[in-house]
Amino acid sequence: MNEKTSKLALPSEPRTFGFFVDGEHIEAGNRVVLERASPAHDVCVTRIPCCTREDLDKAVEAARTAFDNRRWSGLSGGERASVLLKAAAGIRERIDEIAYFETLENGKPISQARGEVEGGIGMFEYAAGVARALHGDSFNNLGDRMFGLVTREPIGVVGLITPWNFPFYILCERVPFILAAGCTIVAKPSEETSASGLILAEILKEAGLPAGVYNVVPGTGNEIGQAITEHAGIDMVSFTGSTAVGRSVVHAAAGNFKKLGLELGGKNPQIVFADADLKDAADGVAFGVAFNGGQCCVSGSVLVVERSVADEFEALLADKLSKIVVGDPLDPATQVGAITTEAQNTKILNYIDAGKKEGAKLVCGGSALDFGAGRFVAPTLFSEVTKKMSIAREEIFGPVLGVLPFDGMEEAVRIANDTEYGLAASIWTKNIDKATQVSRRVQAGRVWVNCTITGGPELPIGGFKQSGWGRETSIYGIEEYTQIKSVHIELGKRNHWIG
Ligand code: NDP
Repeated sequence: MNEKTSKLALPSEPRTFGFFVDGEHIEAGNRVVLERASPAHDVCVTRIPCCTREDLDKAVEAARTAFDNRRWSGLSGGERASVLLKAAAGIRERIDEIAYFETLENGKPISQARGEVEGGIGMFEYAAGVARALHGDSFNNLGDRMFGLVTREPIGVVGLITPWNFPFYILCERVPFILAAGCTIVAKPSEETSASGLILAEILKEAGLPAGVYNVVPGTGNEIGQAITEHAGIDMVSFTGSTAVGRSVVHAAAGNFKKLGLELGGKNPQIVFADADLKDAADGVAFGVAFNGGQCCVSGSVLVVERSVADEFEALLADKLSKIVVGDPLDPATQVGAITTEAQNTKILNYIDAGKKEGAKLVCGGSALDFGAGRFVAPTLFSEVTKKMSIAREEIFGPVLGVLPFDGMEEAVRIANDTEYGLAASIWTKNIDKATQVSRRVQAGRVWVNCTITGGPELPIGGFKQSGWGRETSIYGIEEYTQIKSVHIELGKRNHWIG
C-alpha cells in the first residue's frame, strides 16, 4: 500500500492560512477567520482569513504598481515563460499537498484531485509556450511611405473570481494565461475553497514571480467579490460562477467599463443516437452527469436519446449509475465524493423532490446517502421527463439526469438548443455525418463527440448565449487578456498640409 492506493487520514488539526499581497504572506491578525469544514467529514480542515475592503485596495494598488512599472509586463515572453515553467515544476513537487487540500475543502475524490492538479501543471507548461508565441501583425501593403503594426498589449490588472467546484484547476485555466499575457492579478477564490489558490501564491513566489503580480484576497463573494467587480483600479474581471451572479458582475463592471470574461452556468445536452455504441455512451453519460458530484459547469445534465433505443439505453445507464462508488473522498477507490456546500446539497435535493412532484419517473437514486457524516447524493436518473419540468430546464449542479426522447436529428437539435445556456454538448453516434451536422448546429462553446468532459490547454473553453463571454485557455484564451493597438509609422519627409 502506498499513498496513491491507501486511504488518507484527516489532518490532526486545521491548517491556518494567511493571505497574499505584494509578494508577502500576511497573517489573519484580527480579521474574521472562515473555518472550513470538510464536506465529507464535518471536521474543520482549514482556517482562512476573510480580507477587508482595505486589504483589497492594497492588493489592487500592489497589482497596479507591479503592472505600471513593467517589472512583469516589460519582460520578454521567454523570461515570463521561464517563471511559468518553474511554477509548473513547483506545482509538481506539491501535487499531493494541493490535492489533499482540494479534497478536504471541496469533497472531491483524492484521485480526481490529483488528476486535476496534474492537468493544472499542463496549463502552466502550455501557457509558457504561448507567452513566447504571442504576437501581433503588420501591414506592409500601405505604400512606400507608411508601415502599419498591430500589437497586443497586456490589458492590465485582472480581478479573478473563481468558484468552489474545481478550485485549483479553474485557477490554472486562467492564472498562467493572464501572466503569460503580462498582466497582474488580484484573485478571490471561493470562500469555501481558498487553500489551493494560497498555496499557488507560495509556488509562484518561489518560481521568481515579482512581488505584486499575483495577489490573493480570500473573502466573501458579497463583499470582496462584489468590490472587485466595482473596483476602478481593475481593468478586467474574469468571473466563473453562476449566471445570476454573472449578471450582477456585468452591472457592477459598468462603473469603469472594465472588460469581462464570464464563464457561467450550463444545461448541457448529452445527445445519444440509436447507432451509437450504447454501452460506451451509457458509461460516458454516467460519467458526464456524476463526475465531481455533477458540480461541473459542463456537466451533461440533460439526456436527449433517440426514442427507438430509449428504454434499452435507460436500463444500461441506470446500471452504470447505480454502480458508481460514492463515499469518502480520501479513499482512492471513491469515484464520487461529497457535495461541496450545504446550500448546494439542499438545492440538489430540492430538484430531486421537484422532479418527483412534477411527475417524472424515478429510475434510480433519488435521495441523500448517509455515511454518518458529511453530505452525499446518490446518482439519480429520471425518465418520463418533459421540457416544462424544472429538472429539464434549470442548472441543478448535482448528479441528477432527466431523459428526453427524440425522433430524428431535427428534433434532437431543437431539444438540445431549447435552453438559455450554451456551454457544452456531447454527441454519441458512430455516423460521421450526424456527428458533424449536429456539432455544427448545436449552440454550445464546447462539443464532444463520443466523449464528454475532456480537454486540455490546447482547445478554448467558454459559452454561447447566457453561458458567458469570451474564451479561456489556448491561444484564444491568452488573447482575451490583451488589447490591440494599431500603429501607423510614416516613413520619410512629411507632405505638408499648411503651405
Ligand atoms: P456563485 O456564482 O455565487 O459564486 C462564484 C464565485 O463568485 C465565488 O467566488 C463567489 O464567492 C463569488 N461571488 C458571489 N457573489 C458575488 C458577487 N455579488 N460579486 C462578485 N463575486 C461574487 O456560485 P455559488 O457558489 O453560490 O453556486 C451557486 C450556483 O452557481 C450553483 O448551484 C451552480 O448552479 C452555479 N455555479 C456554476 C459554476 C460554473 O463553473 N459555471 C461554478 C459554481 C457555481 P463566494 O463563494 O466566496 O461567495
